[in-house]
Amino acid sequence: MTDKAKTGWNFENSYARLSDIFFANTNPTPVREPELVLFNETLASSLGLDGQALQQGGGVSILAGNEIPQGAMPIAQAYAGHQFGHFTMLGDGRAVLLGEQITPQEERIDIQLKGSGRTPFSRGGDGRATLGPMLREYIISEAMHALGIPTNRSLAVVTTGESVMRETALPGAILTRVASSHLRVGTFQYARKWGTKEQLQALADYAIERHFPHLVKDVERYRLFLREVSDRQAKLIANWQLVGFIHGVMNTDNMTISGETIDYGPCAFMNTYDPNTVFSSIDAQGRYAYGHQPRIGGWNLARFAEALLPLLHENQDQAVEIAQDEVARYLQVHHNYWLTGIRAKLGISNQEEEDEGLIEDLLQLMEDSGSDYTNTFRALTFDQYDEMALFNTNEFADWKKQWQARLERQAQSKQAIHELMRNSNPAVIPRNHRVEEALEAAVENDDYSVLKQLLDVLSRPYAHSADQREYCSPPPATDVPYRTYCGT
Ligand code: AMP
Ligand code: MG
Repeated sequence: MTDKAKTGWNFENSYARLSDIFFANTNPTPVREPELVLFNETLASSLGLDGQALQQGGGVSILAGNEIPQGAMPIAQAYAGHQFGHFTMLGDGRAVLLGEQITPQEERIDIQLKGSGRTPFSRGGDGRATLGPMLREYIISEAMHALGIPTNRSLAVVTTGESVMRETALPGAILTRVASSHLRVGTFQYARKWGTKEQLQALADYAIERHFPHLVKDVERYRLFLREVSDRQAKLIANWQLVGFIHGVMNTDNMTISGETIDYGPCAFMNTYDPNTVFSSIDAQGRYAYGHQPRIGGWNLARFAEALLPLLHENQDQAVEIAQDEVARYLQVHHNYWLTGIRAKLGISNQEEEDEGLIEDLLQLMEDSGSDYTNTFRALTFDQYDEMALFNTNEFADWKKQWQARLERQAQSKQAIHELMRNSNPAVIPRNHRVEEALEAAVENDDYSVLKQLLDVLSRPYAHSADQREYCSPPPATDVPYRTYCGT
């Protein structure tokens, strides 16, 4: 029986047909004792994979990097990036791309093992990952998908039976990461800095064909490519804000061309509404704070535009002008996505000029009263205001009158407004204390039941069902701020 018939792997390796400056052939380093601890059956079947076969011996060996499936061509991808504003060479230091799975729907999807050992881009690192952070990425990426936000997905987590040295020895693990590609702003920065113009152009043509095939024959394709990437970034960041997501490490190597969220190291969801919220332990200046995300998206886009300059026009001044024009559009495009989204959260489906004032007033009241972001919108959705101090104030009562008057000025029925709000305001988000509780049970006690229950609840964020109620509570008050870590 062929491997394809057995497990459904159906690889192509189009990225590896680019110039070899863009990657290094690298096999995963085998691990001692692989054990599958999480597997995403729904995702497996949408990829055309046989979940049963993959969860058995030979299948698990592949997810651990101990065996290379037929048709795969493992590589580590080269990329650069601005980390906290500083340009540097990076690349897959602890990941290999096995190849691109061609799904039954003819989609081309990257299959990457993360934590699979050293590569030529590892620098001082060990190429490995630890169990807690890989489980965390699995939980949050799958929650983001269920929230309707473009993201890389998680197919499996395998423990390696080896320990990984961090501050202490921790159990090693490998995550199988699934993405519509891993092309990043940083891939283009790498090409611009170390490649020829032809190599940069080949990379752009590749990205256009893969993600924006309608542009392939357009004479203005590089400019429009920049515009489409800008649009996807604008929409993605607006979507993050609308659910209270803080990415935490929006370095240019972590911003995809596809507009999917990647790199779940230090991300976290905000509880109390405060635009200055930062969770990442290394973000001392708050560069990637909740409220800075749109502006940072614009900064990253400017770096992308710079990388594309040689393709935008033969005349350098004109190329710069085109780049500036495109980057200048971004903030307005972002604002429009955000405004449409937050109107929907308030049940508003048409536009009035005063809407922005109404929205700003609510956000200010939330900030002043330290209200929980998700639960405020949930309370408005269900017209149930028992939980928070904000709801007992005169200011809120005044605001609510204006809001209700606003809702009456549109044609939608009460039922339609409620439906819109239900579908725009999640009941549950991956609350930090819930995620930590699930990780602790799994990592410390080898008990995955808490985690699986959490995954189930997070897989239907807009259900607003009775079994989700206990997952809606914000964390108990504490003096110790929640902290997240990168590259762990
Ligand atoms: P990240 O913070 O995950 O975006 O990673 C930044 C860079 O460090 C990327 O080039 C990673 O591949 C690399 N890196 C992170 N952790 C490790 C590790 N344990 N070993 C080797 N490289 C790593
Ligand atoms: Mg990264």
